[in-house]
Amino acid sequence: MAATVHQPTVDELYEGVRSGNRALIGRAITLIESRNLKHQDKAQLLLEKLLPHAGGAQRVGISGVPGVGKSTFIEGLGSWLIDQQKKRVAVLAVDPSSGRTGGSILGDKTRMEKLSANKDAFIRPSPSAGVLGGVARATRETIIVLEAAGFDVVLVETVGTGQSETMVSDMVDFFLVLMLPGAGDELQGIKKGILELADMVAVNKADIFEKKIKQAVREYKSALHIMTDASPNWHPPVITVSGLTGDGVPDLWERIEKHARIMSENGERAARRNEQRVSWLKSQIADRLLADFHSDTAVHQAFGPMLEDVRNGKKPVSSAVSDLLKLYHSKGYRGL
Ligand code: GDP
Repeated sequence: MAATVHQPTVDELYEGVRSGNRALIGRAITLIESRNLKHQDKAQLLLEKLLPHAGGAQRVGISGVPGVGKSTFIEGLGSWLIDQQKKRVAVLAVDPSSGRTGGSILGDKTRMEKLSANKDAFIRPSPSAGVLGGVARATRETIIVLEAAGFDVVLVETVGTGQSETMVSDMVDFFLVLMLPGAGDELQGIKKGILELADMVAVNKADIFEKKIKQAVREYKSALHIMTDASPNWHPPVITVSGLTGDGVPDLWERIEKHARIMSENGERAARRNEQRVSWLKSQIADRLLADFHSDTAVHQAFGPMLEDVRNGKKPVSSAVSDLLKLYHSKGYRGL
């Protein structure tokens, strides 16, 4: 018979996180990621205790299409921050397409071997696949745990697909977009959307794309030039970097720190974080209501036939919505 594993109490988790105990930090994150309602109650108690100790890290989102060199870059940047800047660095990933058991493509420990062996680094793969909102919630709350554990820098990695990038840009202080010089495809639609979120663009693999890279920098600069800056005090720079050789990494970090200084002094950083909390609240309400709606037995039974009727044009959408909501409300408040 398997021995029962001791479940740490909220107080034990709290003490463990605050003292930087890696095993307990891991357990706290697992608790937060759990969709089990009992675990969620416990996670909320823990987060309430940790929250006063959070907020101290520089939160940086890092995005780019697969193959752009994100994990190589994060390994290089993370090691440099630890060795040269004496920082403690945490790396998280937001990859809604990944399941942990199915092998996540992001935040995979084997991809950042050097960094994951470093005692001043903490790497956590993406929460397993689920609704995007759930992955985002777990990641935001994990940031609180890591800050309360004393990490100075939290890097949040994500793939170059629209929705997850918007989500990550909404939980960080600085959003970095890694790009590659390509054959004239720099300004395709999807990349333009990403550029709008960027606080900086770094054209990566400068070691092999020497010639093409200048052209790419020019194109990204002119694309950013015609966009409206999110802040009157910051125009996103375009720089070149090589995650592999480390060239450009100190310059890149200096700019992130400069951004942090400017935004802290003028209050924009606090305002951005405040707005992020408000949008988090709104999206959590929407997520929880929707989950509760779909978990209702009466709604569940009526939903399929109603969907068919709407699909076939037999029933107007608005009356289907009204009928379903009436069913949902018929039981009254259910202690969400
Ligand atoms: P990711 O999918 O964005 O995480 O990209 P990876 O970090 O896994 O890198 C994809 C490939 O590009 C690997 O073969 C890396 O060795 C290579 N690579 C990553 N960064 C650089 C770089 O700065 N220069 C060069 N020459 N190759 C790189």
